Amino acid sequence: MSDTNIQAGQLHIGGEWQAAASGETFETLNPSTAEALTQVASGAAEDVDRAVRAAREAFENGAWPGMDARARGRLLYKIADGLEARADELARMEAMDNGKPVREARMIDIKESIDCFRYYAGWADKIDGDVIPVPGPYLNYTRREPMGVCGAIIPWNYPLQMAAWKVAPAIACGNTMVLKPAEQTPLTALELARVAAEAGLPAGVLNVVTGFGESAGAALVKHPDVDKIAFTGSTEVGKIIQREAAGSLKRVSLELGGKSPNIVLADADLDAAVKGAAMAIFYNAGQACTAGSRLLVEESIRDEFVDKLVKRAAGMKAGDPLDPKTRLGPLVSQEQMDRVLSYVEKGKAEGAELLTGGERVEVNGMRGYFLNPTIFDRVTPEMTIAREEIFGPVLGITTFRDMDEAIHIANSSIYGLAAAVWTRDIGKAHRAAHRLRAGTVWINTYHNLDTASPFGGYKQSGYGRELGKYALDLYTQVKSVWVSLG
Ligand code: ADP
Repeated sequence: MSDTNIQAGQLHIGGEWQAAASGETFETLNPSTAEALTQVASGAAEDVDRAVRAAREAFENGAWPGMDARARGRLLYKIADGLEARADELARMEAMDNGKPVREARMIDIKESIDCFRYYAGWADKIDGDVIPVPGPYLNYTRREPMGVCGAIIPWNYPLQMAAWKVAPAIACGNTMVLKPAEQTPLTALELARVAAEAGLPAGVLNVVTGFGESAGAALVKHPDVDKIAFTGSTEVGKIIQREAAGSLKRVSLELGGKSPNIVLADADLDAAVKGAAMAIFYNAGQACTAGSRLLVEESIRDEFVDKLVKRAAGMKAGDPLDPKTRLGPLVSQEQMDRVLSYVEKGKAEGAELLTGGERVEVNGMRGYFLNPTIFDRVTPEMTIAREEIFGPVLGITTFRDMDEAIHIANSSIYGLAAAVWTRDIGKAHRAAHRLRAGTVWINTYHNLDTASPFGGYKQSGYGRELGKYALDLYTQVKSVWVSLG
C-alpha cells in the first residue's frame, strides 16, 4: 500500500485518529491475492459509544447544525473537491480492497461519490418548509430539522459510494454521523473522514468506526443516543436491525437485497439486449444489489438469444483489477466465493443446465477469488437459484410465453429492488414498467443510477428512498409551528 495513505489501525472519532479501546486490529485483504493489505482498528461497543458522544456533542453544541446553510453547502463542495483531487488514488485503493476493476472504480464509484457530495452541497440551503393555510387567526409553518445523530452501516460492494450516499445528504441536512464501513472494505471510508477533516468539517460531524457487524454495527444500532440508522446490506441483517432498533424506536431506512428480473421480449433489439443482459449480471462480478440475476426471455427468441449471450459471456474473462483493461475482478472474499460456488452446486443439483463458467479460475498466478461469468439455462421459478440472492456472476435463464406470464414470474419474488424490460414497443414497455413491483425499472437499458434520481426497494428489498430530493426525507423531520395572530 505504498502509494496510499492509510491511517493504519485507527478510528476517526471527534476529529482525532485513535486506536480502538481494546487495542485490537484486524486485517483487510486484497481479494486478488488473498494477502493482507493493512491492519484496521477493530472498533466495538466502547468505541461506538465514544463516537456517538462525539457526534452528539457536535450536534448539540457544535457549529454544524446552526451554521449558515450556504456555508454548510460550501463545505460539502470542498469535500467533493478533496475527493476529486485524490480520485485516482481512491480508485486504486478501492480496487485493492474490494477487487473491483480500477477503471470502473474511477469511472463509477469515485465519480459518483464526488457527484453525490456536489449534488447535496446544492441542497443544503434549499431545505425549506411550507406555510399552511389553517383556520383561525394563526400562522402555521413547517421547518425541516435534522434528525440528530445518524448511524450509517454500509456494505462492501461499493464502499466509498455507499458512504457518500449516506454521509452527503445527512450532513447537508445538518445531522452528525457515525459511519461503520464493512469489515471487508474499510479503507476508503477512513479516507473520506480524512478528506472531510481537511476540507474543514468540524470535529465530531463525521466519525468513522471500523469493525465487525456483530460488534461495532450492532452497538451502533442499539445505542440509545442514535436517532437514526441508515443501512445498506443483506435482507437478513436488515431484519435484525429493524428488530434491534425497535428498542429505542430510532428511525430506520433499509436498502437490502434483490433478485432483479430482466425481461427480454421478442421484439427487442436483440444485440442491445444481449449486451445489456451481460452487463446487468456481470458488472461488479454480480456483487450489486440490483444485479439482473433472473433473465426472462420470450420463448420464440430463446435459442438465438441464449446463443449470443453465452458467446459474449465466454469472452468476458476475469482479470487483474489493477489492469485498466479488466472488466471483471475477483469476488470480495473467500466466504463470498464459497457461497457463490455453493449456489452453482445447488443449481446443478436442482436440474438447471450449466452453459458456461461455474468454476474458480486462476488469473496471472494470483490466488484470488476469481470466477468467470456463469450462466444457467432451463431455470424454473421454484429453483433456489431463481429465488435467492447469489451476489455473484451467476445468471439464471427462464423462458415465458407472453407478457402476463413474464410479469407474473418477475413479481413472484420476496424482493423488489429493480427490474428491466427490453422491447421496441413503447406502449408495452411502459405497461410493463407500471406493473413491475420494483423501486427502479429500466427500459432498454440497465444499471443506470444518478445522484438526482431516487433509489430503493419494494417488498423485502427495504424501504426509504436514497438519492435525489427523496433522501432529504430520510435525514430530516418536520416540525409544525403555530403562532397566534390574535
Ligand atoms: P453481506 O452479507 O453482503 O456481507 P451484511 O448485511 O452482512 O452484508 O453486511 C452489511 C453491513 O452490515 C456490514 O457493514 C456489516 O458489518 C454490518 N452488519 C452485519 N451484521 C450486523 C448486525 N448484526 N448489526 C449491525 N450491523 C451488522
